[in-house]
Amino acid sequence: MNRFSLCLAMAIALATFLCNSSPASPCAPADIVPNDQVDVGDLLAVISAWGPVGKDDSADIAPPGGDDIVNVADLLAVIGAWGPTGISGGTFPALWINGGPNCGTEPQIQVHQYNQNTYILRQSLCTNFEAPFIYLLFGQTKVLMQDTGASNIALATKVYQIINEWLAAHGQASIQLIVTHSHGHGDHIFCDSQFIGQPNTTVVGISQTAVKNFFGIINWPTQIVQYDLGGRMLDVIPIPGHQTAHIALYDRDTDILFTGDTLYPGRLYISAFTDYKNSIQRMVDFTSTNPVCWVLGTHIEMSNTPGDDFPIGSTSHPNEHPLQLTRDHLLELNAAIIAMQAAPHIEVHDEFIIWPF
Ligand SMILES: [Zn+2]
Repeated sequence: MNRFSLCLAMAIALATFLCNSSPASPCAPADIVPNDQVDVGDLLAVISAWGPVGKDDSADIAPPGGDDIVNVADLLAVIGAWGPTGISGGTFPALWINGGPNCGTEPQIQVHQYNQNTYILRQSLCTNFEAPFIYLLFGQTKVLMQDTGASNIALATKVYQIINEWLAAHGQASIQLIVTHSHGHGDHIFCDSQFIGQPNTTVVGISQTAVKNFFGIINWPTQIVQYDLGGRMLDVIPIPGHQTAHIALYDRDTDILFTGDTLYPGRLYISAFTDYKNSIQRMVDFTSTNPVCWVLGTHIEMSNTPGDDFPIGSTSHPNEHPLQLTRDHLLELNAAIIAMQAAPHIEVHDEFIIWPF
């Protein structure tokens, strides 16, 4: 690389940083300009943000959580993390479709590409107040879809369109679609019938037996098994408590923990308290040795005001809380569940509400 092209590369990296306000992943804070590498772009990001943090504090990465000044500690943090992050990072939209006055214009399904091989779909509140989230995880040989929505929407059309676009982009002829469920409640399985019998498609049943048999889980709920999508390994963690066949998925590619209705920014309905308590502890234990970037559930029911949830059945979510939570929320939930085990009760936290019934 000659001096001119180096200058050009640095200028592009700087411009990219200045135009990109996407927050760095909590697992790879030194990847300030997200590209799954800690590199010269991140170094330039620190230099350009040098001094007290202003509007954009993404370069304030050391000590963990920041100290409101971008300084030599941040520079050293970047240098210390130099090279590939080992994690496929991604982005979230600034806002999800949130129903209400926009029902005339918002689509039935919002499709957000988190990264090259990961899609997040949201069903519109205008079609069903549950407005669940649906995930598509592409490996080389299989694409796993978690959940199929809460009511009759044109989901299969949308999903096969995404798959065909992915195949074209990867020069690949076909891929096997595996439809599984976070759990068997009606708001996560409604469009199963659109996929049953389709080519290159397997739809896993919703009973605990069907889930166990498909993934090869012998000792439910204590056994954690692996499921390979082809170069993308998932860990399948049984987490009954909200519902008897509930599972979590941990994606080793993105370090995302998918928690379904067991943990999300909303009302955490608990039908079997002891099972739920053990399931939360199981995820805490698992994630003590498996790093978590994000905890992603399947609904949003909280607003951005701490402790404030939208009324049950609401089809309008102004000022909606983001979808993504972190492992800190899992730890907060675990401590609260343990503390209330003698007398389970509804308990409002800033970003979720524990709701035994
Ligand atoms: Zn649900």
